[in-house]
Amino acid sequence: MNGRFDGKRVLVTGGGRGIGRQVALGFAAEGADVAVLARTAEQVESVAAELAEGGTKALPVVCDVADAGQVTEAERKVTGEFGDVDVLVNAAGLFSMGPSAAYDTEQARALLDTNVLGTLRCCQVFGRRMLARQHGKIVNFGSLLSFTAFPERAAYAASKAGVLQLTRVLGVEWAPSGVNVNAVAPGMIRIETPHPAALDEDALTRRIPAGRRGRPRDLTGPVRFLASEEADYINGQTLVVDGGWLNYG
Ligand code: NDP
Repeated sequence: MNGRFDGKRVLVTGGGRGIGRQVALGFAAEGADVAVLARTAEQVESVAAELAEGGTKALPVVCDVADAGQVTEAERKVTGEFGDVDVLVNAAGLFSMGPSAAYDTEQARALLDTNVLGTLRCCQVFGRRMLARQHGKIVNFGSLLSFTAFPERAAYAASKAGVLQLTRVLGVEWAPSGVNVNAVAPGMIRIETPHPAALDEDALTRRIPAGRRGRPRDLTGPVRFLASEEADYINGQTLVVDGGWLNYG
């Protein structure tokens, strides 16, 4: 094979379904070995089996990124069975919404634990070895809602704004050590999550200059770019992948 990621080891958190799954397949298509991490064993095993069928070295990893001990254990497993990770993609994320005046604190805490602290934790645990090797790429997942306000999404939006800010800080802190930390911010993506069900389709499409919702595969190229050597001089940035929505006003 002659791919951009031949010989590279990529870990995709949230790779069991949705965008993360598509990103995992996208790295495999360009020659990478791919570890797929999420909480649901059947999902990561199924994606790993699909990758292995296509000739990719694949590793399923069952882990809750909200649990520090499980992330440490996952790092041991990945490093032991797979080797040092060259690329970490933090796509694991939770979504929930509700009227802000009554929004449950525990639900908000769960969002922050997975989206912000889970992302930070994975950056720390997998980033340490990257820092030691003076080499590595990390791509985090923000959202259109990191920038813009929709009613009833206070905790989610705050969590995704947090992801971009931690990306900026790690981006500058780790740049001198040869580790690039950047993010993508997807717009509205067409998959079976609570996001699409919550909005009226026609009204939504009218607000997107590209005239359609995104697809999970719209994220594979941008994520691969930020994970490639072509992005060596990009540190702490966010690539918005939203069909022009954010700039449309
Ligand atoms: P999905 O809900 O389809 O998939 C999320 C993935 O993350 C699943 O594999 C899930 O598996 C995993 N996950 C969730 N919580 C945890 C956890 N605590 N530990 C480990 N894995 C976890 O999400 P999408 O594909 O829609 O979204 C992917 C990313 O993109 C998310 O960060 C999301 O916030 C972001 N995003 C999505 C948009 C959209 O329109 N879909 C828009 C903007 C941003 P499991 O439940 O088995 O753990």
